[in-house]
Amino acid sequence: MSMVSHLHYLFHPETCQSYIHLLRWKDRPLQCPRCHSHNVGPWGAYHYQPRLKRYRCKEKACKRTFNDLTGTLLDGSKRSVMHWILATFLLCLSCSSRRIARELGVHTRTSYRWCWWLRNTALSYETDRRLEGTVEADDLYQTAGNKGQAQHGGKKALGRRARGRRKKREPGRGHYDKDRPAIIAWVSRQGAVVIHATKDFTVQTVQKAADLAVQAGSRLYTDSASSYRAVKGYLHAFVNHTQKEYARGDVHENRAECLFSLLKPYLRVFRGLSKTNLPGYVGFFQFLRNFRQQNAFEQAELILRAALDPTIARKARRGEFVRCIDHFDLLQIAIN
Ligand SMILES: [Zn+2]
Repeated sequence: MSMVSHLHYLFHPETCQSYIHLLRWKDRPLQCPRCHSHNVGPWGAYHYQPRLKRYRCKEKACKRTFNDLTGTLLDGSKRSVMHWILATFLLCLSCSSRRIARELGVHTRTSYRWCWWLRNTALSYETDRRLEGTVEADDLYQTAGNKGQAQHGGKKALGRRARGRRKKREPGRGHYDKDRPAIIAWVSRQGAVVIHATKDFTVQTVQKAADLAVQAGSRLYTDSASSYRAVKGYLHAFVNHTQKEYARGDVHENRAECLFSLLKPYLRVFRGLSKTNLPGYVGFFQFLRNFRQQNAFEQAELILRAALDPTIARKARRGEFVRCIDHFDLLQIAIN
């Protein structure tokens, strides 16, 4: 399927190319991506992409050529940078990968891969985020199965009966193994949020998530769940929902609950999630929330700027910014 609309012609490939050139070298010195030497000079262009500038490293030991895209997330893509810019913009408008494939005229698998890389890139802004001051916390159990996890494509063996119209809710708390992993939201009263996808909701997991998300000594407001009550290192107060107490003066968790009312419709767009991919989706939603003062154009520019950094691009392709919190992680690191 190719692009037919006249609107598409407004996005001129050459303008997009010079925009990418600007974004790549703005605030970054023009240097060789291999030997990091600043001793580089122009080296013509490519006949198939006239605006894609080519450079040559003048170091004697190197002498290699490179261009605006070498080492970035967009490197080696057969599609033009215009496709990438539009895909990033649509991703910030919370479009699904199928929708993006349809709008751009690329294959579903292409857009799915791009979406993952771009989401992971956006997460590079969120790795060191820690909240302070007054922080509210709440938890949610999201149904997430094994969507798209068949080993060799095609129909997968479920090992169980198909769910029919939906997963019937089992009694008790959700768990990763029961296809209902937990999501914990930490919302600062100053506006920043941290959202964690966790495998369970035990005291150890919640403690670990709290240590990652919230500065020690902060004020923490939650509901009366026992896992929160066991968390150490914070000035903790809680409201008791079973006694119909939802706010007691300053103590409430309405912001955290409100965040879930935004997260749920965001996740609905994807029509079912895999539990393996849940942390990635949730993390990208965290990015969108933390940069909510900016519009989708500005958010897309932030992501593209990070995607044009070779170090971030390498990590994003490997998915190093995403992880599911599990209290066994620390144990495994100790053993290894
Ligand atoms: Zn070099």
